[in-house]
Amino acid sequence: MIYDSILSCVGNTPTVRLNKMFPYQEHTVLAKLEMLNPGGSIKDRPAKFMVEQGIKRGDITPYSHIIESSSGNLAIALAMICQQHALPFTAVVDPKISPTNLKLLEIYGANIVQVTEKDQNNGYLQTRIDTVQRLVAQTPNSVWINQYANPDNWRSHYFGEAEEILNDLEVKVDYLVVGASTSGTLMGVARRLKEANKNLKVIAVDITGSVLFGGTSGPRELPGIGASRVPELLDPTEVDEVIYVDDYESASACRELVKKESIFAGGSSGSAIAAIKKLLPTIPKHSVVLTLFADRGDRYLDLVYDQDWFDMVKQRHLSNSITQLEQIV
Ligand code: PMP
Repeated sequence: MIYDSILSCVGNTPTVRLNKMFPYQEHTVLAKLEMLNPGGSIKDRPAKFMVEQGIKRGDITPYSHIIESSSGNLAIALAMICQQHALPFTAVVDPKISPTNLKLLEIYGANIVQVTEKDQNNGYLQTRIDTVQRLVAQTPNSVWINQYANPDNWRSHYFGEAEEILNDLEVKVDYLVVGASTSGTLMGVARRLKEANKNLKVIAVDITGSVLFGGTSGPRELPGIGASRVPELLDPTEVDEVIYVDDYESASACRELVKKESIFAGGSSGSAIAAIKKLLPTIPKHSVVLTLFADRGDRYLDLVYDQDWFDMVKQRHLSNSITQLEQIV
């Protein structure tokens, strides 16, 4: 099969059984490798769909200038997609962006606007949104993608991964375990799979320090998973259970995954594995559990796979565990 362009190579990702990570026969644990998308992550799907639906509706024309606030996988995916559509793209990023991601954005030809001032919450979220709004006002024919509120984000996963799961897997999924940030993946995949199996249990994975599901805002290091505000797309009533994991649990699971399965995955894939470890003892035997691995380990060499960083999050994990124990005693 010869594809027309890199855009046609988005999707159709394989699913693997994690036999070595979960060797006992009581459960089947499957992972769909979204990390194998051409831009390196699951965000190729919403980037492509949000741009192409915008074009279809006429909201995006050949004269449009695409703008989005993202320092991560969505920005890289949008840069790749916009380059192929010959649309200028501006990514609003903050100083926490990794040198690798900054370089990738440059390589894919994005314009980069870096905010430097912190907002009232000592973060960059509000400054980034203010900057997007200023750029939108100043730039002729600009279109703000707005991944946190754009319904084409969740729809890309509904028509994408979820449809592939229903077509490709010979087994019925009992538990869907998904790490959330904009919650587009969670909402989209859960909605489609639940239509096919109303007994499906939807398990969201959030990271300690994220406020997505009512958690207390706190320090967290891994990009991609969690959020410091509740996205418009999230409907928590569609989620059966939320499992919290922290940076250390996620990174430990990533390291175990590459050792046992030779799957070199990013932080949120480790979060999903750490959550599945907590889930398995609580569910009926012979359940089928499915997760998605959102990106590869290359973008985490200075985090998950760096010993100093790993020791730092381990230290934080240990001191939080001691505090929790002290509160119980
Ligand atoms: N994992 C990684 C690595 C991501 O980049 C993202 C997107 N931020 C997610 C998980 C969560 O996806 P979503 O935004 O669809 O909730």
